[in-house]
Amino acid sequence: MNRFLVAVTIGLMASTGAQAGVTEDDLANDQTITSQVVTNGMGRHLQRYSPLDTLNKDNVQNLVPAWAFSLGGEKQRGQETQPLIYDGVMYITGSYSRLYAIDVQTGDELWQYDARLPEGILPCCDVVNRGAAIYGDNIYFGTLDARIVALNLKTGDVVWNKKIADYKAGYSYTAAPLIVNGLVITGNSGGEFGIVGEVQARDAETGELVWTRPVIEGHMGTLNGQESTMTGTLNATWPGDMWKTGGGATWLGGSYDGETDTLVFGAGNPAPWNSWLRDAGEPKDDNSGDNLYAASRLGIDPATGEIKWHFQTTPREGWDYDGVNEVVAFTDAQGNKRFATADRNGFFYVLNREDGAFVSATPFVKDISWAEGIDDTGRPIFVEENRPGNPAEAADGGKGETIFASPSFLGGKNWMPMAFSQRTGLFYVPSNEWGMDIWNEPVTYKRGAAYLGSGFTIKPNYEDHIGSLKAIDPTTGEWVWEFKNDAPLWGGVMTTAGGLVFTGTPEGKFIAFDDETGEELWSFQTGSGIVGQPVTWEMNGEQYVSVVSGWGGAVPLWGGEVAKKVTYLNQGGMVWTFRLPKQLASAN
Ligand code: CA
Repeated sequence: MNRFLVAVTIGLMASTGAQAGVTEDDLANDQTITSQVVTNGMGRHLQRYSPLDTLNKDNVQNLVPAWAFSLGGEKQRGQETQPLIYDGVMYITGSYSRLYAIDVQTGDELWQYDARLPEGILPCCDVVNRGAAIYGDNIYFGTLDARIVALNLKTGDVVWNKKIADYKAGYSYTAAPLIVNGLVITGNSGGEFGIVGEVQARDAETGELVWTRPVIEGHMGTLNGQESTMTGTLNATWPGDMWKTGGGATWLGGSYDGETDTLVFGAGNPAPWNSWLRDAGEPKDDNSGDNLYAASRLGIDPATGEIKWHFQTTPREGWDYDGVNEVVAFTDAQGNKRFATADRNGFFYVLNREDGAFVSATPFVKDISWAEGIDDTGRPIFVEENRPGNPAEAADGGKGETIFASPSFLGGKNWMPMAFSQRTGLFYVPSNEWGMDIWNEPVTYKRGAAYLGSGFTIKPNYEDHIGSLKAIDPTTGEWVWEFKNDAPLWGGVMTTAGGLVFTGTPEGKFIAFDDETGEELWSFQTGSGIVGQPVTWEMNGEQYVSVVSGWGGAVPLWGGEVAKKVTYLNQGGMVWTFRLPKQLASAN
């Protein structure tokens, strides 16, 4: 099968002519071209599934380290990246907006690029970066001062460097860019600073803006330098001027479904967190406080930036349940073309791929307290007593009533990507079982300052675990198996045709599970917490697996009682690359 794929790849290259570097065909076929990994998500639908089965349940115990690479210096913390593999080189981004090119055979460094970051950057949730994108002869990545940089693949020289937004207003950028039809497509970060979420598309060659699409109603989009259309309808679901600083950061980037030619981006929490300030009417009776399109998924036309459809997971959002988690295109067991997403709010949603219409929602964590469930239109059935109280009703005009809500604001699942297996038809969801005390406070917007109007403390829901990797049947919502972990899970998941599910733990273990039973088949201690995203590829007739290790991210900074519980975890910054030696591939 592998030789056949190589032949197909060469055929494709020949038919597309002399274009150098990574082509649109390479990007579109990233899942099946197993000799390289040129997209975030191992394919733009973000399935994180490899058709390779050289490494499998019978021989995974023979997987051994090939080389390791240190990210060096004092900047060890928070390595959330996914490696890219192309033309003999591994590319990884590091925390503090760094990018490395590494010889994929030897682990030797070829070049390194360090973005020069200004004083006063405002990353809310650690100094992380989640990966790069390759197109043509360039590699693209975002920086903590809200810029997007194109570098030459071979030399690391800057080709262009453009501003996404003003870091002084609280904007930053941490997601992997997405490339579709020669456009570099990015979101933005900064939802805790009253910024406005937006998706931008640039010409990959020049960096010039092609279109922009703000995701909060009332803001105007642009196309080729001219105003295009307004997002939503002004003041339909936002009172007064609140939409102007309405949040909805598109901070986790997006996916692309080639079959419907649709970009899918998620929008974060509406700002401020205090939902009472964003509601004009009686919230129980109408949708005036829904705050579109915060806490939503948006289907966007890649050519124009026009919104094709939206699905709001948490209307009247009041718990920081950002709607950004990745949307994965897949085909279900009945042959239906679907999207799936595991939301911060604790529900696993299945949507129709054509129009984003609601299909189903089932809990993927225990103890959800803010909603009884999701009705058949996709709208939550709120538990009104579980909304943090209105500070305006407090006797002294100070704190509103404190409530205990679950999941915590860091979510039933946060940014760390789940994976889908075409072999089992299951999703493998890295989740966390935790809750929080949360209350609202008065707040006014000030540019570049935190804009929350809330206080909070995260707490574990169980003594013996917080992290919970679950195998979930998307058709029924059934949990097929669960792996419990002491510390909260914060790393990505990968599946393979060899029947393996890979992920890492904050305790440092990189683990391969049996995709059907959840049995732990292999593990390796990487020396620091894994919050990166594994990949696999084949080289010289052998299968390789890589993951970046380096504890950090939002948990140590925002985790309240959970952060105190895990202070023993050590920082680090290392790429680990493993291989299955040819002579051991058939052994067991
Ligand atoms: Ca948020």
